[in-house]
Amino acid sequence: MLILVVNAGSSSLKYQLIDMDGEKVIAKGNCDRIGIDGHISHKTADGRTLDQDCAFPTHTEAFEKLVETLTTGDAAVIKDMSEISAVGHRIVQGAEVFSQTTLVTDEVIDKIDELADLAPVHNHAHALALRACKKVFAADVPQAVVFDTAFHQTIPPKAYMYGIPYEDYEKYHVRKYGFHGTSHRFVSAALAQAMGKDIKDIKIVSCHLGNGSSITAVEGGKSIDTSMGFTPLDGIIMGTRSGSIDASAVTFLAKKHNMTPDDMSNYLNKKSGFLGVSEVSSDNREIYTAIHEGNEKAQLTADMLRYEIKKFIGSYAAIMNGLDAVIFTGGIGENSWEVREGVCSNMDFMGIKIDTELNKTVRGELKKISTPDSKAEVWVVPTNEELLIARDTLALISK
Ligand code: AMP
Repeated sequence: MLILVVNAGSSSLKYQLIDMDGEKVIAKGNCDRIGIDGHISHKTADGRTLDQDCAFPTHTEAFEKLVETLTTGDAAVIKDMSEISAVGHRIVQGAEVFSQTTLVTDEVIDKIDELADLAPVHNHAHALALRACKKVFAADVPQAVVFDTAFHQTIPPKAYMYGIPYEDYEKYHVRKYGFHGTSHRFVSAALAQAMGKDIKDIKIVSCHLGNGSSITAVEGGKSIDTSMGFTPLDGIIMGTRSGSIDASAVTFLAKKHNMTPDDMSNYLNKKSGFLGVSEVSSDNREIYTAIHEGNEKAQLTADMLRYEIKKFIGSYAAIMNGLDAVIFTGGIGENSWEVREGVCSNMDFMGIKIDTELNKTVRGELKKISTPDSKAEVWVVPTNEELLIARDTLALISK
């Protein structure tokens, strides 16, 4: 059975076609520069590729090109779109409305669009893509939406509320939502399986570290707290995002630089983080290259990242009253031994010890990197959000 997984942004549409018999990706790609000009890059599992400039005035033309590319020409993988059983869409913000994967209807699309206020960069684009997809695909192809926020709907009010007047929670829904839920859910389940334990019996701190990063306390398979908040800006320092910052520093800087709310949002989301502090790059690899060249601001950036992750692991072990395992995932978590080593050093007081030599060899593979006498296990667990979206979609349509 084939499932198409779609991750739509405001100007892009990433996709993977997954064969659920064996869970293999048979083709993937990206329709880019939607609304600007348009380009598709497409790759099949057997190495055929297509790179082409096209006109994508809207998401509809991008979907039409996607259909054409999958079914015709040198990089086709199917004869007819009827071979695709369902489509699964990644949606960033489900707020308090969606706590689980849901079948797409016109009402669901409208609701996702209404939530755009809470995720201005993403939700409207998702709604546009969902409407375009409904136009291009036959009406009998079921579509499902999988929300980044859904896994965090188990976080209790004492953890998701901010210390602001309650009426603004009621009126404007200002609270912590948390993101990367699909990734945290996927890696937690994969870890429990690798440990041979029932997820209901373990306490996990899941560190998803990439361009965007979040850390989640997973107790008994449920998210009970997470580092991102109302938006994906909160938590630890990221590629270009500041992470947590005293709100008074924000109002102070807005006055000093004479910034509008949009200017400030751009400053905190696009100009801060690794890029802002190091003045070198938003990319972890380039930070380490600069460190090896003796760049002190790059060193400071790396130190901040490791310190902030360590603090979250400690505080989440405290709220769970224990810790069975730490997960490292995402581009940095899966690949950067330096970050993992820096986080896990001097943590033996809370039962964390890693095998530093083994850690240096692990990249992008499921592997335990803690020593046999480490009380809490430490694992590298590759994430696969697309696969979880496909699995959720399959489970929903099989009901
Ligand atoms: P993601 O957003 O999950 O794709 O992660 C992107 C981040 O992972 C960037 O900061 C990259 O520098 C980092 N990254 C990817 N590969 C490596 C690697 N081999 N070593 C260190 N960092 C890496």
